[in-house]
Amino acid sequence: MSPSFADRVTRVEPSATIAISNLAGELEADGVDVVDLSVGEPDFPTPENVVEAGKQAIDDGHTGYAPSNGIPQLREAIVEKFESDGLSYGPDELIVTPGGKQALFEVFMALLEEGDEVVLLDPAWVSYEAMAKMAGASIERVDLSTHGFQLEPALDELGEVVTDDTSLVVVNSPSNPTGAVFSDAALEGVRDLAVEHDAMALSDEIYQRISYDTEPTSLGSLDGMEDRTITLNGFSKAYAMTGWRLGYVGLPKPLHEQAAKIQSHSVTCATHFVQYAGLEALTNTDAAVTEMRDAFHERRDMLLDRLADHGTEIATPDGAFYVMLPVDDDDRAWCEEAIEDAHVATVPGSAFGTPGYARLSYAAGEARLHEAVDRLAEHGYI
Ligand code: PMP
Ligand code: GLU
Repeated sequence: MSPSFADRVTRVEPSATIAISNLAGELEADGVDVVDLSVGEPDFPTPENVVEAGKQAIDDGHTGYAPSNGIPQLREAIVEKFESDGLSYGPDELIVTPGGKQALFEVFMALLEEGDEVVLLDPAWVSYEAMAKMAGASIERVDLSTHGFQLEPALDELGEVVTDDTSLVVVNSPSNPTGAVFSDAALEGVRDLAVEHDAMALSDEIYQRISYDTEPTSLGSLDGMEDRTITLNGFSKAYAMTGWRLGYVGLPKPLHEQAAKIQSHSVTCATHFVQYAGLEALTNTDAAVTEMRDAFHERRDMLLDRLADHGTEIATPDGAFYVMLPVDDDDRAWCEEAIEDAHVATVPGSAFGTPGYARLSYAAGEARLHEAVDRLAEHGYI
């Protein structure tokens, strides 16, 4: 039988970040020692008290379905967390999801359809484009790479792209893949355009707690943004909980009603006992989060110094755990060859809409980062 497949899925590619990490895993299974700087995943274990809370929740019998939008205790803790960011989502404006990705998927599916326009700031994380395409929306892009990956100097260009046809503007600060943290003036510029053209904005704040020299501002905390901002956050990055699959999103009430239907008809709920681990993470891990952030900070500085020693100066990214290394125009070939010869896995910038770069994740141990730079230098890649 040769089934035909829906356009919504044939028009997208598999996630490049996940595909490269899978490839690195396969090489490793064949006995190759790969330095994997591809997928953005903290190398730290989940904090012990969070693991214990998860185990305890299993022992306590929280192994059945949970309320579809999340257990009330966790939603209350998220309300407080959002309040501390200047956001005022109520418990009935939240969905707790199996990973932030699922939350984004629900938002894109609930908000967008054929002919709607989404604005992305390039380079942009791989899955926004795929989700927009699956929803049938068209994509407008603003290239931040010519502005040192900052948004403020690109506001005029953004002003040309955001129009009355724009349904959604996606902002991700700190940014994956650049590590840029956008200034308040930049976010105010987004606010002014969203208000002028009556567009919604999605603020992906999943790297919020991983920022070094500056505190990221929440877009939804700006005047005029309360009822037009969707705020995504989660546990994967800040609490080293990627495999637990837990995220959350705050949405204005009318959108919440629609998106919650998708959750209830697809995954039902986030895993029940995992939500207790999330509650512990949100309320009792400040020291662990600070420790991990400080370690990422040191690694960032070390990686930038080592690259500079090899003649590659990169503007310092203020957050997340990525740097964009300028490479050949054919960045896909560069990344493929770097895995094959140097056994260093990175993600091509073109997967994020910006060719000519390779994204390096420094959420890897310090010794591995030194090894990666040594290998790239030895094989003539830097
Ligand atoms: N947003 C961004 C920018 C990301 O890099 C990721 C990476 N995983 C996510 C959302 C989703 O993360 P998760 O599904 O693990 O919560
Ligand atoms: N967000 C991380 C990355 O960009 C994890 C993989 C993914 O979800 O895309 O590498």
